[in-house]
Order: sequence, then structure tokens, then C-alpha cells
Amino acid sequence: MRKKIVAGNWKMNLDYMEGLSLFSEIVNMIGDEKKGDQTAVICAPFVHLYSIGKLAGGKVGVGAQNIHQNDSGAFTGEISAKMVKSAGADYVIIGHSERRQYFAETDELLLEKTKSALKNDLTPIFCVGETLDERNNGSYFEVLKKQLQNGLFSLNATDFDRIVIAYEPVWAIGTGLTASPEQAQEIHAFIRAEIAAAYGAGTAEETSILYGGSCNAGNAPQLFVQPDIDGGLIGGASLKSRDFTDIVKVFN
Ligand code: 13P
Repeated sequence: MRKKIVAGNWKMNLDYMEGLSLFSEIVNMIGDEKKGDQTAVICAPFVHLYSIGKLAGGKVGVGAQNIHQNDSGAFTGEISAKMVKSAGADYVIIGHSERRQYFAETDELLLEKTKSALKNDLTPIFCVGETLDERNNGSYFEVLKKQLQNGLFSLNATDFDRIVIAYEPVWAIGTGLTASPEQAQEIHAFIRAEIAAAYGAGTAEETSILYGGSCNAGNAPQLFVQPDIDGGLIGGASLKSRDFTDIVKVFN
């Protein structure tokens, strides 16, 4: 059985004390209310990682939102996978559309970052997704295929087994426009078929594929019940403890 994962992406929100306070609330609420075997993860700004890791108590996984592809060096202002791991995190988001768009991150760079994450024993949550133009002009299958092939599919099978994929249509992020359960399922099935073609049906069956984009406690039940949707990558709704834990509980 592949893993069910609900991961929050706090993005560049919450100062240090706000982050600690929200994370404590989430840990307490998950502790009281989680019944299923789903994994809850919070991907926080770098400055929070060490402290929230101390509060996690094994109930909530901790992740970063980005890494540099090198372990160390003269890259002023950057943070490596090695540093993130040493601060206590176990996950990292790679290739979020905001990184691709605002920081010009290419598939080739994202492959390097993914390798660095794996080398340092972080689980990559690798994001793919099409823009509104690509959705409207019908090129989205090609776009997704290219993101998967160039960003991931040169990994060997053992490394690929450790990847979590997040499908986040750019037009659904922060817009309140969620992909319908049917739209999301269609893409998740496509991604799984691409994985099967590259690594075999067994690997495809075992890969967790999360949906992201205006996912909330109201629409999560219809999305998560789809056969190829294994959880969510949650932006806005991860900034409220009740909203986030309600999404985690969809799998109870
Ligand atoms: P929203 O849930 O705010 O749409 O953000 C989704 C996202 O980008 C998660 O990585």
C-alpha cells in the first residue's frame, strides 16, 4: 500500500514565534484526532526547522521548501540539503511552481536538487503542473511529461522509489479554483502511467502522488477518494491548525 500524505507548505509566511505556535497546535490536534495511518508533514521556512522538529514528537514530519543543489560552498545566502537534514528535517519540496516561475528553476536544475536531497536522506516532494495557458491550449500532457522526464526519470529505480510527486496545476494555486476531482484524477492516472512506462507497474503502484491547489477541508474528501490521489500539498489551508488537521483527518 502506498503512503497517504498530507503536507502543508507554509511558503514565506509566519515569523518564528508564529510558526512555533501554529506547529504546536497542529501537533496537539493531530495527536488527539488522527486515527488513520496517513503521514502529516509541515514544510516550513528554514528558520523554523530545528525548533519545530523538536516539537514534532514523531507525530508530524518536518520539511523544507527548497534547497541548493550543492552540499556547501561559496553560494551566499543559500541552504543545502545537508544543512536541512542536520536541522532535523526529513522532507523537502522540490520544483514548486513558484520556484520555477520566480526563480527560473529549470527541470535540469531540479534534477540536481533532487539528487542532492536523496544523497542527504531527505524525501523529495517533487512538484509538477501546467499553467492556465497550457491547460487551455491542450498542451498539458506534454508539459507534464517533459517535467517528469527531465526532472526525475533519469534517476535509477532505487532512487526513484523514494520520490513523492505533487501535481499542482498552477491555475489552481492560491486562486480558490480547485481542479475538479475528475480533472485531478485524470492527471494523476496519467502521471502514474508515465511512471509505469519508465520504472514498471510495481513502482508506479507504490509512488504517492499528492494533489495541490486550493485544497481545503471542504474539497479534500472528494479529491482524496480518487483512486490515484494519495493526499495533498496544502498552501493557504495549512496556515490554520483546524483547517490543516481537518484535511489530515479525511484519511481517518
Ligand atoms: P494553495 O493551497 O494556497 O492553493 O497553495 C497550494 C500550494 O502551492 C502548495 O504547495
